[in-house]
Amino acid sequence: MKLRVLAIGAHPDDIEIGCGGTIRLFADQGHEIKFIVITSGEEGSLDFNKDLLRKNRKIEAQKSAIVLGVSGVLFFEEPDGLTYLGKETKINLIRIIREFKPEIVFIHSSQDYFPDHQVVSQLSKSAIQAASGPWYGDAGLVPHNVRDVFGFEVWNPLQSPQMTVNIDSSIDRKIQALNCHASQTGSLNYVGAIRGLNEYRGAITMTGKYAESFEVIKVGGVL
Ligand SMILES: [Zn+2]
Repeated sequence: MKLRVLAIGAHPDDIEIGCGGTIRLFADQGHEIKFIVITSGEEGSLDFNKDLLRKNRKIEAQKSAIVLGVSGVLFFEEPDGLTYLGKETKINLIRIIREFKPEIVFIHSSQDYFPDHQVVSQLSKSAIQAASGPWYGDAGLVPHNVRDVFGFEVWNPLQSPQMTVNIDSSIDRKIQALNCHASQTGSLNYVGAIRGLNEYRGAITMTGKYAESFEVIKVGGVL
C-alpha cells in the first residue's frame, strides 16, 4: 500500500536533520512525501543579507528534498524567529492535511525548547487534531484523521526517545541532502554533529550503525 507522508519543519533544514534518513527510506519504498517549511530561515546566517538568504535557503531546501525523494516542498514564508500560534497558519496546515491526506506526519518533538521549533510543534499538533474533525470549515474539504504522528529531534536531543529507525541504507543520501544546505554547513561542524547524533542513536539502541530517534506522539486513535 502506498502511503502519504508529510513532514513539517520550522526552518529549511530541520526536517532533513531530524528525519532525513527515515524519509529517504519511505521514498525508497515508493511512498509519496511532502514537506512544509514554515519559515525561510533568513536569520540563519550573518554572512548574507536576509532577502538573499531567504531565496538561497529555499533553493537549498528544494535541492535537498530532491535528494530525499520528496515530491513537493511548500514554503509558508513566515518570519524566521518570530513564529507564533496564528490562526491563518493553522488553517493553512489543516487545509493541506485535508488535501494531501497523509497517513504519517513527522513534526518537531514537543521536547524541543528552541522557540520556533516549540511553536511549530504545537501548531502542527493542533492542526492535525483539528483536521480530523468537523471543525474549521473555513479550511474546506472533508476531515482527515492522520494515523501516526512522530516527533523528530533537531539540535536539542530527545531525553527519552520512544522509537528508533535504522538508517544505515540512507545515511549517505541524508548527508548529501544536508550538504545541499550550503549556507549552514560552514558555520560549525554541521554535518559531523548530525552524523554523530545518528551514530550515537544507532549505538546506544543497538539499532544499527546510524539511526534516527523519535517521540511517538500518536499511533492510531486520535490526538
Ligand atoms: Zn530549526
